[in-house]
Amino acid sequence: MFCLALVSQGVLDLQVATVLCLITEGAAVVLCWVAARDAGFRRLEVTLAASAVTLYATGDAIYSYLAVGESALVTASVADAAYLLFSVLVISALGVVVHRQLRRCLWPVLLDSLVGTLAAASVISIFLTPSLTAASLGPITPESAIAIAYPLLDIAVIALIAGILASQGLDLGPRWPILLVGLALFTAFDIGYALDPGTYLMGSLYDAGWTSGVVAVAVWVDGIAQPLSTHHRSNAGIPALAAPIVSTVAALGVLLLASQTPAPVLAVVLAGLTLAAAAIPMSFRHRLQRTLARTDDLTGLTNRRALYTDVPNRLQPGQHSALLLLDLDRFKDVNDGLGHDVGDGLLLRVGERLTEQVRSSDLISRIGGDEFAIFLADVSEEAAVETAARISMALEEPFTIGGVIVQTSASVGVALYPEHGPELESLLRSADVAMYRAKADHSGHHLYQLDYNDHREIRFRTVQELRTAIAERQFVMHYQPKICPGGPEIADVESLVRWNHPTRGLLYPGSFLQLAEEAGLMPQLTDVIMDQVLDQAVRWRSEGLELAIAVNVSASCLRQDVPHRITQMLSVRNLPPSVIVLEITEEVLMQEGPRTVGVLRELRARGIEISIDDFGTGYSSLAYLRDLPVDELKLDRSFISPMNEDRRATNLVASIIDLAHSLGLRIVAEGVENEEAYTALARLNCDLIQGYYLSKPIPAGELSAWMARRRVAAGLV
Ligand code: C2E
Ligand code: CA
Ligand code: CA
Repeated sequence: MFCLALVSQGVLDLQVATVLCLITEGAAVVLCWVAARDAGFRRLEVTLAASAVTLYATGDAIYSYLAVGESALVTASVADAAYLLFSVLVISALGVVVHRQLRRCLWPVLLDSLVGTLAAASVISIFLTPSLTAASLGPITPESAIAIAYPLLDIAVIALIAGILASQGLDLGPRWPILLVGLALFTAFDIGYALDPGTYLMGSLYDAGWTSGVVAVAVWVDGIAQPLSTHHRSNAGIPALAAPIVSTVAALGVLLLASQTPAPVLAVVLAGLTLAAAAIPMSFRHRLQRTLARTDDLTGLTNRRALYTDVPNRLQPGQHSALLLLDLDRFKDVNDGLGHDVGDGLLLRVGERLTEQVRSSDLISRIGGDEFAIFLADVSEEAAVETAARISMALEEPFTIGGVIVQTSASVGVALYPEHGPELESLLRSADVAMYRAKADHSGHHLYQLDYNDHREIRFRTVQELRTAIAERQFVMHYQPKICPGGPEIADVESLVRWNHPTRGLLYPGSFLQLAEEAGLMPQLTDVIMDQVLDQAVRWRSEGLELAIAVNVSASCLRQDVPHRITQMLSVRNLPPSVIVLEITEEVLMQEGPRTVGVLRELRARGIEISIDDFGTGYSSLAYLRDLPVDELKLDRSFISPMNEDRRATNLVASIIDLAHSLGLRIVAEGVENEEAYTALARLNCDLIQGYYLSKPIPAGELSAWMARRRVAAGLV
């Protein structure tokens, strides 16, 4: 640009300037494709824009080659096709970005865009009518077609810019101002050229304007391809009415001009249409705003406000209806592990699947982060429960979001009207209690029962039941094997507690551990667990099975006397300390600080190994771990599940494994669910592997049968 400015002052040679333009464009092409390599979720728009820049640069190279020795080409060439395609591809890339975000709220933007287009077309037509008329009157030649195509595409670009400026909250990536300025310059020079192609010289200021547009696209592409976490949503922050107002003023200007001097009829007609179109949205906008206030931005479903206004009107005495409350399991893992864009994508797709599962007369609302409410009017109990079951099954199918496969599940609570609540509030409460049950039982969906009454009572009752359970030892341990990759032999097991509830059946830790923790029952529960685990170790040893058993320990159990107590429990059974490994979550370690670290040192001094559970979900750095008394890291499953789809996830796991090894730590991969992940981890020298792919947690009695099956499968027997 600087050089081209020098050209204009006659300091620099036009040929040198042309070469500089070509070099700049070459650099822009490289920048684009480097960015495209890591584009991930935004691959489509980045590839489109990168192709646009590449085509333009190629077009320029061809043009310069064809025009060697001349100051400009007079006939149309392939270069023109490349230039035209540049605009088409840039428009498509912007279209993809915009479409990704607009979803169902397309209308306001389309209307503003229309107003912007008409106004721009009206203004441009004042200038371009002579050349457009000349081009369209003569015989249709490549030159005349091109002379018409350029301004038409420019109008399309201006329309898009108008639409984008008009739409509040549209995220064009972190470098949107550069893009808009670049495209505006590009278009301005295009129009200048269309007005008088004769003044164009290769290497003149025109090329500077066009090149700056191309460079702006490349810089923008590089911005949107950056990892998502590094940029925040950029809100254009332009008042909502800016585009219609600017357009209206422009149209009025054209009409004023036409009243003073002869102006092309086309310009006047377009200006009139602009005013008309700007007026329609004004009245339409009001209705739209009402709709938008009831709409959830992300999913396009109705929002909490709409639920609260609509459902009370739809509860008809004498008619049965149902309210379903749905919450995604482990949504936080998706958001934290894969980024907010994937999280958002997941919510959107969940919304779509929900829509497929219900009738169009039913009302689906997103009422919180990952919480949805569904109102089913006029349904029987069976139909409501069947819908809930269908929904929870539909959400278990994996989602593909931006090339990443995401597996999730949901818990659906069902409350019936009028049985479980006479109005919305009480229905929501009942559905919430039922949802809590569904989550606790891992059952997917659950119908509210009248005798539940409310949360507090359930909690109170459960705490009482837990006390009895601890006294009566109603717990059973399941054991999940860990394997050294490459060998069929079991290396170790992790013990996972289950509550054999007298009336509710086998309950998973998700439904009672939190409560035990809150009720201060965790130390007693851990004692019971530790006893059972060590008894099992004795049994296995008597069968010749010398497995190390990992035991999960929560923060509240790491009290000063724990090392001593555990040593005692081991010695009464004549067990060596190597028989257990204590798993402590990373989060606990980070929160508890020096006191916990002291206890861990003491445990280790007594020969008991320490493992950091759910590693990677907290914020500890590996450097920090170096100074802690730790033997093993268990890499959280949120790192493992994306490995099959995302090369970067595999690279991340590879570097964590290497770093752990360099610190002398053993590394266990958790949640390995398929052969691909297993093979990849084996290749990356992961020390131990655990997950459903090898085995779910199973009762102790089933372990030897499992081991026998593995040996047979490995051809060892
Ligand atoms: P955790 O320590 O991270 O245990 C792993 C959990 O992931 C287990 O769930 C296990 O069944 C599940 N899992 C294992 N492999 C896979 C897989 O390939 N895919 C998937 N999707 N899941 C897999 P579970 O048994 O429901 O335990 C949940 C959590 O409860 C445990 O997470 C642990 O934090 C806690 N917990 C379990 N038993 C005990 C215990 O005895 N004491 C304490 N304090 N906490 C426990
Ligand atoms: Ca664990
Ligand atoms: Ca874990």
